[in-house]
Amino acid sequence: MNKISRRNFNKKLSTGLLGTTLIGYMPLSFGITNNEKKSLGIALVGLGSYSTYQLAPALQDTSFCHLSAIVTGTKDKEQIWKDKYNLAENCIYNYENFDTIISNDAVDIVYVVLPNSMHADFSIRAAKAGKHVICEKPMAINVSECDAIIDACKKEGVKLSVGYRMQSDPYTNEVKKYVREKTFGSVRHVSSTAAYISRGNTQQWRLNRALSGGGALMNMGVYAIQTSIYGTGYNPISISAQKFSTRPEYFKNTDETITAQMEFPSGAVANMFTSHNASGNRMRVSCDNGWFELEPAHSYGPISGRTSNGNTIYFPHKSQQALQMDDFAKHILLGTANVAPGEMGKRDMIIVEAIYKSIAENGKKQLLDLGTMGIVTK
Ligand code: NAD
Repeated sequence: MNKISRRNFNKKLSTGLLGTTLIGYMPLSFGITNNEKKSLGIALVGLGSYSTYQLAPALQDTSFCHLSAIVTGTKDKEQIWKDKYNLAENCIYNYENFDTIISNDAVDIVYVVLPNSMHADFSIRAAKAGKHVICEKPMAINVSECDAIIDACKKEGVKLSVGYRMQSDPYTNEVKKYVREKTFGSVRHVSSTAAYISRGNTQQWRLNRALSGGGALMNMGVYAIQTSIYGTGYNPISISAQKFSTRPEYFKNTDETITAQMEFPSGAVANMFTSHNASGNRMRVSCDNGWFELEPAHSYGPISGRTSNGNTIYFPHKSQQALQMDDFAKHILLGTANVAPGEMGKRDMIIVEAIYKSIAENGKKQLLDLGTMGIVTK
């Protein structure tokens, strides 16, 4: 396919215009075979720690997508990755020639795994190249950047997802089920903690506001926001927040510790805690007739859970990243739900901005009008 027809092809796929041709994309496991693609090629943009130790290994374990290309600013990594993952010569890109990916049929999805402030630029460039986009979390560093990504993907007719791996984890779906079916009664309170202690390299991009867009809130805080939402089943209608600092010499211009309280339309409340100067990885949901909790709640796994009736919540461990990328590939190939759409990333950024606004106004309650934005029901 030439570059224009390839672009149109992705567009047709995402807008459903291919009609029955979609059937031709069904994987072998669905019992249908033909000459069409059965697995989508993914280009990883940014070969830092998450790509190296999580995403690339996970792509060896996916059924509907595979690693087909890399985009790196580090020359030395090119040959190493090419050899390790058996990549074709024309599938190695750098940040400067990235836009020429438009003519590469081996790439269907571009996965942006760069520092947060670079997400919008590369996601929009990927969309303009006619590629579907996975953008790592947090989706961007402010709401207007999220809008720009969403608009670009809509305009180019490509699909967009945020790298929220927990949305593909079976434990998350179990929590959603308990909430939906009121297994322990109505939810009254959610407590969520997402924190780790940052030490060492003060030059890292997560401690640089221009690159990270914030600190703990932008990094781990989005997990606490997400668990508060799927722990109650609703988007918050108000939020108040506080910021704490005990190591200002280390956290010079990024947030160290943030707590926030949310109210939900059901009457439930949530407390969230996020920090780069404390450890914690937990969610607990208290209901009318009992409780359930996950600890760890959002690490790479295995996740672990228990309930007030003495049961453990258990699912065999599978790479969350493999599940996540397969979910997105299936969404493109088979029209299944997009479990982490761009609207979800934008919604979380609206909440992030409300938290920062509340902190700037000494904890003043911020009202939110999110409706069901970003809530996915399968
Ligand atoms: P990292 O520091 O390990 O890698 C960052 C990559 O970006 C490196 O390859 C680096 O060379 C490149 N880069 C390009 N320009 C840069 C610049 N100006 N400054 C610094 N690096 C630059 O970071 P990471 O842990 O791989 O995180 C990358 C993204 O993935 C972030 O958005 C992060 O939030 C996200 N992430 C998500 C998860 C998850 O569980 N979903 C986990 C880890 C990281």
